[in-house]
Amino acid sequence: MKITYIYHSGFLVESADAYYIFDYYRADFPVTDADKPVYVFVSHRHPDHYNPYVFEILREKKVRRMTGIISYDIKPRNYTSHMEGVEIIAAEPDKEYTLDNGALVRTLRSTDKGVAYVVTFDDGGVPRSVYHAGDLNDWVWEGEDDRVNKWMTGSYRRYLTAVEGMHFDAVMVPVDSRQGDDMFRGIEYLLEKVKADAVYPMHYWDKPEVIMQFAGKYPQYADIIRYTEDRMDRYSVIEDKNPREIVLLRGSGCVYKKCTFCDYYSDSGKDEDVNYMINRAALSQVTGKYGNIEIINSGSVFELDKRTIELIKKRCAECMIHTIHFEAHYLYNNRIEDLRREFADFELKMKLGLESFDYDFREKILHKGIPEKDPEVISRNFDEANFLFGIRGQTEDGMRKDIELGLANFERICINIMCANSTGIKPCKSVIKKFVRNIYPEYKDNERVDILINNTDFGVGD
Ligand code: SF4
Repeated sequence: MKITYIYHSGFLVESADAYYIFDYYRADFPVTDADKPVYVFVSHRHPDHYNPYVFEILREKKVRRMTGIISYDIKPRNYTSHMEGVEIIAAEPDKEYTLDNGALVRTLRSTDKGVAYVVTFDDGGVPRSVYHAGDLNDWVWEGEDDRVNKWMTGSYRRYLTAVEGMHFDAVMVPVDSRQGDDMFRGIEYLLEKVKADAVYPMHYWDKPEVIMQFAGKYPQYADIIRYTEDRMDRYSVIEDKNPREIVLLRGSGCVYKKCTFCDYYSDSGKDEDVNYMINRAALSQVTGKYGNIEIINSGSVFELDKRTIELIKKRCAECMIHTIHFEAHYLYNNRIEDLRREFADFELKMKLGLESFDYDFREKILHKGIPEKDPEVISRNFDEANFLFGIRGQTEDGMRKDIELGLANFERICINIMCANSTGIKPCKSVIKKFVRNIYPEYKDNERVDILINNTDFGVGD
């Protein structure tokens, strides 16, 4: 199951065989498999939760099977033309509905308009359960009549008895800063009553800082709270060559930032608390399946915060991981020995972003910042290297030479094919064609060579 925050209270939940969209308001979302059915849940009629244009977007994405689960407070006469031809289930409070894929929908009464949803579904053989509150919240307001606030809290708690003791893979809950000191009342009570593996605060009106405030005030939920705004895929498993788990963490940012082909150093942040929250969520998915993990960030491992480094050690030890792969720019060459000492309990494999042994190409075109020419010296502290192919000026001979030198000087190499991005360096179709036609077949089964035709082929990124 993959959960993607869309905007405000809008989420996309993808299971093995379906998409579930909750409270779409605005912004695009990654429905990429048009063959999967899409179930669109609307908790109530407020415009920040109900935008029927979502069905039009799904049509543009060529989705064929869509169902609307629309709260009863939106009357059929208010359905718009975007909903024509869509199968609609009018959701009443305190009811159960079975979707045509077998998913079970339970509704809760709301303290505002409409309903909240509990959706239980199969995810490739794994049972999943998610809770989306809509506007079901403890809406206590400063200055409001005491009796009204008490009634509100009583109602909220009464409505939540329907989920008391339940386990959820994920809960999506309002944390509305307009409530001031009372903004955590609803989420706090819910988390006392249910067991949740992941908590996504929502409805915070573009003030994601409330997530950090919540995490600071309730450290007991530190392991389950998610930084809702983070839309990256940060965990995957590479099953074929050199099987390993891979996590994409967030650091303070590449200190070098001069490579002319690179625009991905933007996945970084100066707020260490936010980075740590994101990294903790990513690392919590690690299982130790292969005892082998690759840990990357947009930059070098040395740009991860200290707490994240400690967490990596702890998590890898817990999961009986023996081998850790990190990446670093050459400018950190003289810190690698210390890092190996720090990770002495593990076998450390250091990967260098080399891109090419061709000095002129690497330094004059790519501005990689590696002043050394001798392959033996370059590889002295590194076990693995990245190469970048598919750029104008590269030849078949040059690419072959890089691979041969790479295999002679490193344990493993990873070939990245240049993808379109926002930099001035563009992928060159004829170079890529030469690689794919003449070189790829020779190395595709080589255990020491990873080949990424798209930069998300390892399953992480966006
Ligand atoms: S060192 Fe890595 S992250 Fe930094 S600019 Fe170069 S390719 Fe990008």
